[in-house]
Amino acid sequence: MTSVLIKGGRVIDPHSGTDRVADVLLDGGRIVSMGARGVGRVGPASGTRVIDADGCIVAPGLIDPHVHLRQPGREEAETIATGTAAAVAGGFTTVCCMPNTTPVLDNDSMIGAIAHASRESGVCRVFAVGAVTKGRRGEELAEIALMARAGAVGFSDDGDCVASAGVMARALAAVRATGRAFMQHCQEPTLTRGASMHAGSVATRLGLGGWPREAEEIIIDRDVRLNRSIGCAYHVQHVSSGGSVEIVRRARREGQPVSAEAAPHHLLLTHELVDSHGGYWTSAKMNPPLREAPDVRAIVEGVADGTVGVLATDHAPHTAEAKGLPFEDAPFGIIGLETAVPLYVEALITSGAIGWPRLIELLTWAPAKLCGLDSQGLGHLTVGGPADVTIIDPNLEWTIADSDLAGRSRNTPFVGRRVRGRSITTIVAGSVRHEQARC
Ligand SMILES: [Zn+2]
Repeated sequence: MTSVLIKGGRVIDPHSGTDRVADVLLDGGRIVSMGARGVGRVGPASGTRVIDADGCIVAPGLIDPHVHLRQPGREEAETIATGTAAAVAGGFTTVCCMPNTTPVLDNDSMIGAIAHASRESGVCRVFAVGAVTKGRRGEELAEIALMARAGAVGFSDDGDCVASAGVMARALAAVRATGRAFMQHCQEPTLTRGASMHAGSVATRLGLGGWPREAEEIIIDRDVRLNRSIGCAYHVQHVSSGGSVEIVRRARREGQPVSAEAAPHHLLLTHELVDSHGGYWTSAKMNPPLREAPDVRAIVEGVADGTVGVLATDHAPHTAEAKGLPFEDAPFGIIGLETAVPLYVEALITSGAIGWPRLIELLTWAPAKLCGLDSQGLGHLTVGGPADVTIIDPNLEWTIADSDLAGRSRNTPFVGRRVRGRSITTIVAGSVRHEQARC
């Protein structure tokens, strides 16, 4: 493996509080040195690859704690190989995949199988989130302790909510014993039966079943109450309602171990998008649904004040055939890995909500802590630590095109959007896995 010298970039490492122009030298899969001129002065050894990072941000490799890689079971939409190709194209060096595959990741051998397949075909690091209940049926607890031992980095029935309060209480206790986080897909199922978009004026106009905010808020409220005497690390996935942000804020103020994540689409888009592109646009159909402008503002404010402390794409690939079905029959979800960075920039930095160091923290150290990956040296830059580095050009303006999508599926409403900021080099364990021309 050749060594790599990243020269003259703005090195931002939120964990150590680093924010300065420096050179970073990588060798043997590790960070060898970081310093203002420490490595430049002696000059790189022959054979060292030099990357000019002038004007760019040099960050720890980005981590997405919530993606769907569809392997096993729906390889026509995505695989570990194609999903991790999408990841490195977007600047991510680590992704955590959800267990709603076929079969479900609900036992230790499945967790081991994902780790094995990722070593075989993954372009970046992959960690698996284990299912909370067997088959994700919400009835009987899965092998939570065994999965944790096999490397599961969190637990979730994502795609479905753990709806039973009794099962939820047992699950919180079992997950707490592992030291991992419980990640809840917050959707009270009886309130969303037959629903395909946000319950509002657009759903009424289009004659579609409405999905109320309360379906999300009730579950968070309930879980926070249940968890008071248990104390599990409880994480709200893909928050969509302003009311949910307030519930999380209150719980955190009480000192409860509650965190929340936001996805790019919930930080930028509203339900009106469903009635665009000729109406009943399936690229605007997600779970939880796009809501209204005050919700978007509340989520952005939640990020600004620290209530929402993690960003996650909920990368959800679907074939064109599936997304081509009538609106009510089409699956929920959009892809997100390739387009995340500029969308976060637009929603959070251009809007003035936060600055670059905080954005980098939300994409590195925060998800590393959530998934316990900090103990493996991920999510921060440290001499001797893993050489996972993402180089971002914060000023690069570009228009998202179909050709920028590196995964197997194309289901995104963001193609054609003019954006600013792009990951231009993605380095995993010291090896350059993606490079993007800067013009
Ligand atoms: Zn979900």
